[in-house]
Amino acid sequence: MLSQIGDEAKLLAGGQSLIPLMKLRFANPQHLVDLNFIPGISYIKEENGTLQFGALTRHAEIENSAVAAKLPIIHDCAAGIADVQVRNRGTIGGSIAVADPSDDWATVLLTQTAEVRCLSSKGERSIPLSQFITDAYTTVLAPDELVSEIIVKAPGKATGAAYLAFKRAAPVYPTASAAVQVVMEGDVCKEAAIALGCVGLTAIKATAAEAELRGQELTHKSIAAAAEAARTAADPQPDMRGSVAYKRALVAALVKRAIALAARRARGEQVEVNHIYA
Ligand SMILES: Cc1cc2nc3c(=O)[nH]c(=O)nc-3n(C[C@H](O)[C@H](O)[C@H](O)COP(=O)(O)OP(=O)(O)OC[C@H]3O[C@@H](n4cnc5c(N)ncnc54)[C@H](O)[C@@H]3O)c2cc1C
Repeated sequence: MLSQIGDEAKLLAGGQSLIPLMKLRFANPQHLVDLNFIPGISYIKEENGTLQFGALTRHAEIENSAVAAKLPIIHDCAAGIADVQVRNRGTIGGSIAVADPSDDWATVLLTQTAEVRCLSSKGERSIPLSQFITDAYTTVLAPDELVSEIIVKAPGKATGAAYLAFKRAAPVYPTASAAVQVVMEGDVCKEAAIALGCVGLTAIKATAAEAELRGQELTHKSIAAAAEAARTAADPQPDMRGSVAYKRALVAALVKRAIALAARRARGEQVEVNHIYA
């Protein structure tokens, strides 16, 4: 249908971004193609060392999935999105496709080895998540193409990850957020991945912050250096959620806490992570 109708059509998944955008007249599609009638695109599977999420899988299904809980950072993300109503309708595929800079999934998945599988009448292609979102509300998807699946590589040994957001209330988007994954070898951080959310036009991969941890013991000093590098990497806009200086300070504090949580998980501790509410 997309290839017949062309770019006057919009896909409808959970409607939790598209319908508000239509109400605000920021989106005015001539046709809606409803994905909800297509069977078999809502699932969570574990296969060949990967977790696979069908595009129409709801945030709530991921929150409640024992398979997804094998990657605790995935559970942190799904369980913290807005409120029950939004989580019951909103989908992982819709969240990645809409590329809203305030959405949670892109930030979390940037710390993982994640691919977006895309489908059109011409065939299929897989794109690393890091190359899928190119700007605010902008992706590499062609008008006749849809997201069919998100694939996340399962983490190896001694790997821990955590996602932390600061929110003014449950049903609103975060003011800032931080996702961290560390691979530990004893007390030394062998590998680190850090992504920042809501402080730029897209989620930001904080590579300088990662470099502050790589090959270092996780001490107050190395963690503080990573947080400072994250503060510098953040590029927030001032808005009703806070000033530029406030958001930079906030994201640095979140990075610090997320590193500590990720390291505890890497050591095998069961740690429940809850977002911080004002
Ligand atoms: C009050 C409120 C609070 C929210 N708070 C948060 C929050 O804290 N964190 C957060 O992450 N999100 C939040 N959201 C957004 C929510 O997570 C959305 O569900 C998500 O961003 C979009 O998913 P959807 O399935 O609803 O997509 P839709 O709204 O149905 O679609 C969004 C866009 O993506 C396109 N699309 C959908 N599916 C596909 C697909 N498979 N392939 C290609 N294109 C597709 C649509 O055409 C549309 O342009 C909130 C929403 C509301 C209403």
